[in-house]
Order: sequence, then C-alpha cells, then structure tokens
Amino acid sequence: MYFIANWKMYGSLNSLNSVKKVIRLSKKKKFKRAKIIYCPPYTLLNDFSKLTKKTRIKTGAQNCHELEFAGPFTGSVSPHMISSIGVKYIIIGHSENRFLGDNNLIINKKIISSMNQKLKIIFCIGETIKERKENKTTYVLKKQIIMGLKNIKKIDNILFAYEPVWSIGSGIIPKINDLQNQFKMLKKFISNRFKYKNPTLIYGGSVNQKNVILLKQINEIKGFLVGGASQNSNKFIDIIKKTII
Ligand code: PEP
Repeated sequence: MYFIANWKMYGSLNSLNSVKKVIRLSKKKKFKRAKIIYCPPYTLLNDFSKLTKKTRIKTGAQNCHELEFAGPFTGSVSPHMISSIGVKYIIIGHSENRFLGDNNLIINKKIISSMNQKLKIIFCIGETIKERKENKTTYVLKKQIIMGLKNIKKIDNILFAYEPVWSIGSGIIPKINDLQNQFKMLKKFISNRFKYKNPTLIYGGSVNQKNVILLKQINEIKGFLVGGASQNSNKFIDIIKKTII
C-alpha cells in the first residue's frame, strides 16, 4: 500500500523533526508493506532526501517544468534537477496545478520529461463538481489518461491517483459504491489500453484516519494520496496504521 504525503505549500525545516516518528514506524516489521513517499515543497526536498536516504521512505516533488534539463524559466525546476538530488517520485497533473494552467498537453510533456529522468510518476486525474453533475466523470477521466499519457507505452512506473477535485480539502469523500465503480472502470480501461494487468491505482481526496477504514475496503485501491492530514505526523501515522492493521 502506498501512502503519499502531499505537503503542498506548507512546511519548514522545523517540520523535519516530526517526520522522524514516521521513519521509526516504517522500520517496524509490521509496516514493511507500507510504501511511504513524502512530497514536500521544493525548498525541503534535499533535506528530506538526506533524512530518508537510509530508510525505506522515498521522496517526491510536487510538480516540475515540462523541459527535462534547463532553460530561461524563472521560478521553475526541471525533472533533471529533481532526480539529481535523489528524488524518486513526482506528482504531475494535480488539480491545483491544472487550475493554474497545466492542461493535458503540458502534463503529457511533463510526464515524458520526468520519465526520461527515471522519476516515477504520481499521475493525478479527477473531475470537477460541475463535470460530475453533468455526468461527464468517465469521459473526463479517460480523456485525461489518453492525452496525459500520449506516446507512452509502458506504465509500470506510473501510479494513477484518482482525486475527485471536489473531494480535495473539502472533508467530503465519494459514496463508497460510486468510488468502487469508478475504480473498476479505471482499472479496466487502463489495463486494456496499456495491456497491463495490474495498474497501480490510488485514491486521494480528504483521506483521514476515520474514512480510510471504508476506503481500504475497495480492492482496486492500492494506496492513498494524502494532503492536509499528512502534514501532521500523528494523523498520517494513524492513517497508515488503520490501513495496514
Ligand atoms: C491532495 O492535495 O492531493 C489531497 C488529496 O488533499 P487533501 O487530502 O487535503 O484533500
């Protein structure tokens, strides 16, 4: 099971101390099954990489520029810069970045550049509340996958994070039955399209220590992308414990 902490634009050097608790948990035999990945802001990536180097915890970036190496792009960071400091994962297509202008075309370029740099992709897809009300969820998700993964044949290094946009940060999760159907659809669609039997599918959107008990019952879900709750180590640990035990 994956437990991916998306810290968004939160966290300082002081926050590193609280992560030590999670590192200790990850060393226990019982939690070997937990694949923990921390995605802090760029400013903390190097420190996180160093802190977690000799542990089973991995680090990930939250976004990148679409160009693989370098260029005159003020404020941007390339996949090469990210991988060169030992980071293994990258979130691409998060709805908060789609809102800022990342369309499916740009997302496709970011994914290809990042894959060239051997980064594993946490590929976020999800429908807005408007799209859901218009019954366009399946159409939107398929389109995001088709366009986002254009010219990509192998998906063994891609994690598909289904995050209904209206669930992110709202405290609301989809009805379990609906979610189960959505995950079944996604699994079938991705398996057929990429001739890949078991794509890794994870869920994101207001995951907490209570609802994770329901969410983990969905067989297709192989982990969680956790925003708000991951910034508090005790809550994050609780989510991991409730899932694994
Ligand atoms: C996210 O940012 O990907 C996310 C799922 O956030 P939250 O858990 O706060 O809804």
